[in-house]
Amino acid sequence: WNQFAKTRKHSVSFYAMDTPVTLTAYGSRAEEALDRARSRIKQIESELSVTDPRSDVGRLNAAGGAPVEVGEDTAALTAFALRVNALTDGAFDPTLYPALRAWGFTTEERRVPEAAELAELLKLAGADRVRLFGRTLRLDEGSMLDLGAVGKGFAGDEALAAMAAAGVESALVNLGGNVQTLGLRPDGQRWRIGVKSPDGGLIGVLRVEAEAVVTSGGYERFFTGPDGRIYWHILDPRTGAPARSGVISATAVGPEGKVCDAMSTAFFVMGAEKTAAFWKEHGSPGFVLLTENGELWISEDLAARFEADPAYAGAKV
Ligand code: ADP
Ligand code: MG
Ligand code: MG
Repeated sequence: WNQFAKTRKHSVSFYAMDTPVTLTAYGSRAEEALDRARSRIKQIESELSVTDPRSDVGRLNAAGGAPVEVGEDTAALTAFALRVNALTDGAFDPTLYPALRAWGFTTEERRVPEAAELAELLKLAGADRVRLFGRTLRLDEGSMLDLGAVGKGFAGDEALAAMAAAGVESALVNLGGNVQTLGLRPDGQRWRIGVKSPDGGLIGVLRVEAEAVVTSGGYERFFTGPDGRIYWHILDPRTGAPARSGVISATAVGPEGKVCDAMSTAFFVMGAEKTAAFWKEHGSPGFVLLTENGELWISEDLAARFEADPAYAGAKV
């Protein structure tokens, strides 16, 4: 009976942060923990949403250059995003929203803007146009903040923390394909997490303990232009156009979801060579990259616990 209670699986699924969410927790504390985790995710969504005019980010973006008081989550995550911007030489940039909007990714009116229009909109981007002092945020006029590339990872971290605080030792969060885990599986084994491939299958399976596995891909949110080319929602900050680094899927693996979310987006923009150099310098997060030529790049820390799918077994690593 005790053994059963300890390993009993509870799940809840809902929609938040523009994506389907499934939370899974094990044991007698699971139901209460899932409730708290779900509330925490909903709270973070209401603070960070770039399309909700009442959110911290929505109010900031509508403030026309005036200072705005934001909550602790928004202030801390903005500080983090600015640090990642510096650490990635600008590949990760939370101020691209004016350019992103021109592509219609959030308004559903998809179009391919001219390079000159994008160049004009990029004048509104740049981390130096964001000022943070305590909980007060201020943007230069016309600029916009967008934490969309870190929000889900942060929400996953907070959901797992809420479940841990409620007494759960074993849990898994799936936020639109971002998978984050607490502890080990209830049977004491490591979690086996699939790394998605652009065709909807798997690149392979990774064994993890208390880690996040976050993938950024050009196949998640995209449209086909009148020229037949595919345009996706991860932009190159140098051009304001979809990043074409040669990497078509970038997965980051490490203990913190917000780090993995930010860095999977950055790796997608940076491409394989720069990602490998970044990892050599910093030692984390681990990465699995798939390039348009079918090459697989995997960081050394992950190689021993990654099993490539047979379809990719012959890929150059
Ligand atoms: P998803 O949200 O699909 O999981 P990402 O985590 O990679 O994918 O985040 C993509 C989102 O981040 C975009 O929708 C946009 O809001 C924002 N974004 C686009 N390009 C960049 C960039 N170079 N740096 C930071 N954020 C970006
Ligand atoms: Mg991201
Ligand atoms: Mg993501």
